[in-house]
Amino acid sequence: MTRLHVQLAAVAALMCLALAPLVLSPFSVTLMNYIGIYSLVAIGLALLTGVGGIVSFGQAAFVGIAAYATAWVSALNGQSPWLGLLFGVALTCGVAAVLGVVTLRLQGHFLSLSTVAWGLAIGFLFGNVEGLGRFNGISSIPPISLGSLALVSSAQIYYLIWGIVALVLFLGYNLLDSRLGRAMRALRGGNTLVESLGINAFRIKLVTFVIAAFLASLSGWLYAHMSRFISPGPFDASMGIEYLMMTMVGGAGSLLGGVVGAAIVTLLKNSVQDYLPLIAKGASGQLEIVAFSALFILFLQWARQGIVPSIARYLPKTRRERPQPAPPLPRRPQPAPGELLLKVDGAERRFGGLVAVNNVSFEVRSGEILAVIGPNGAGKSTMFNCLTGALRVNKGEIVFAGRRITRDPQSRIAKAGVARTFQHVKLRPRMNLLENVMLGTYSRTRTGLFAGAFRLNQREEASARHEALMQLERVGLGDKPFELAGNLPLGNQRILEIARALAADPALLVLDEPAAGLRRQEKLRLAELLRALRADHLTILVVEHDMEFVMSLVDRIVVLDFGSKLCEGVPSAIRSDERVQEAYLGGVA
Ligand code: ADP
Ligand code: MG
Repeated sequence: MTRLHVQLAAVAALMCLALAPLVLSPFSVTLMNYIGIYSLVAIGLALLTGVGGIVSFGQAAFVGIAAYATAWVSALNGQSPWLGLLFGVALTCGVAAVLGVVTLRLQGHFLSLSTVAWGLAIGFLFGNVEGLGRFNGISSIPPISLGSLALVSSAQIYYLIWGIVALVLFLGYNLLDSRLGRAMRALRGGNTLVESLGINAFRIKLVTFVIAAFLASLSGWLYAHMSRFISPGPFDASMGIEYLMMTMVGGAGSLLGGVVGAAIVTLLKNSVQDYLPLIAKGASGQLEIVAFSALFILFLQWARQGIVPSIARYLPKTRRERPQPAPPLPRRPQPAPGELLLKVDGAERRFGGLVAVNNVSFEVRSGEILAVIGPNGAGKSTMFNCLTGALRVNKGEIVFAGRRITRDPQSRIAKAGVARTFQHVKLRPRMNLLENVMLGTYSRTRTGLFAGAFRLNQREEASARHEALMQLERVGLGDKPFELAGNLPLGNQRILEIARALAADPALLVLDEPAAGLRRQEKLRLAELLRALRADHLTILVVEHDMEFVMSLVDRIVVLDFGSKLCEGVPSAIRSDERVQEAYLGGVA
């Protein structure tokens, strides 16, 4: 399948949508309108939950804020629904921003629980604020007008609703394929990697959260002016759960899944309401919920990842072209060879009573490869985590390129020119090799939300793509850039991490056990690569266990044992040092 095929499919879908009101009954058109309105919320949730990993039960509250805001503007104050749109969107996004700032630092379940809490609280407000009609709601909301045309009939507003849905899908998919979108997709799986790439994870979460709220506000605006009447019911907590259900059914990571999920849940609910009274006369209200829940559980058993991803697996893959040469991304000025680049002074890090790093000091000069060795548990990874900002030291100072970074957050240290790999590989397995490496270019590029959604900065994107391909080729993984990272053997995943780190154009490369899991030939190639990087004036700090690898490669070695520095020196001196032989090398040397 090529890009052209995808475009043809999109055009065909648009034509079917455009013709639908001509062939469907008015009732079906109304049903389609509801599907479109719910889709907007579900697309936002797909972005927030499926892509960003933030489970929100509270989206219905955002729909409600916008619906009440526009009803207040238009029905109660006689102003234009378009003014209601502005007010509703601004109010919803404002509330979301405040809620986001307060809650988005919470982790996992706590964050989801907080969405339940404010979802309930805001839902409660709608029924209890004096000026908003309480439980009677607000009626006689005017229709939306385009010029002199009032969108009164369901077929008229249909085109507005589905036009917005199509536009949102188009912009959403563009966004996901942009710099910011890749950062959003990297959120799932933890902050450490994201921050180590110079990305402010909290900011990206906040942006995603506000986008989801924005889509909910569009939905609320359309809802209010289509039904012309609102009451608290459709914005309560159970509706919040229903939106989440739509997203899951459609496929949480898929924007199109939001539309499909909204359609399935809406149609299913509709038919359950139609057929259940035939089976069980009487208590159909309660039974409806039971029947619906049963269907949902069946669904979770049958296609847990959602309809769209399940089907997409059987479609032919879209063929993509290898990135073409493009103008290079900007590079940072590198420090002069031999200059003091990193100074660790009396670093100490405790975990409870355990002193994992104990008063360790060493220096790294520009252009050298320094190895940190020591037995398992000696504190090597902890040391690396401290100097990259993933952990804070309890005592001591760390200076990088003349600047104190001891208390700096990880993303600021990354931006200053420290790029790293992890002992426990941190990749995004469902992104391809090229995209994983492109994540590394984040702090060298600028494209923001709007440019990403409207594809305005394709030149920078081309440069980032080409840079990523060059780094893949540099480390020897250039032959299959569109392979999923999760399909690589572990050894190559480590190499992929190096390519990602290189794409950041670092001054200092920090590698935690890069050769673990590599075969002998692969190790030799890795050593070759590191030598070539040194020849390009890159400074490298490496933890490695393979003594042959270390001794033949590095300029100096720091030996850690039980958290303390045992000694440091050139490889030959370390090899013959008695304390080192006793503590670590044993018979190896
Ligand atoms: P190395 O990388 O040299 O094998 P580490 O730095 O991973 O050693 O670990 C040093 C010591 O700190 C070990 O005893 C380890 O169990 C402990 N440690 C490391 N990380 C943590 C943590 N997050 N919480 C508690 N203890 C930890
Ligand atoms: Mg380690």
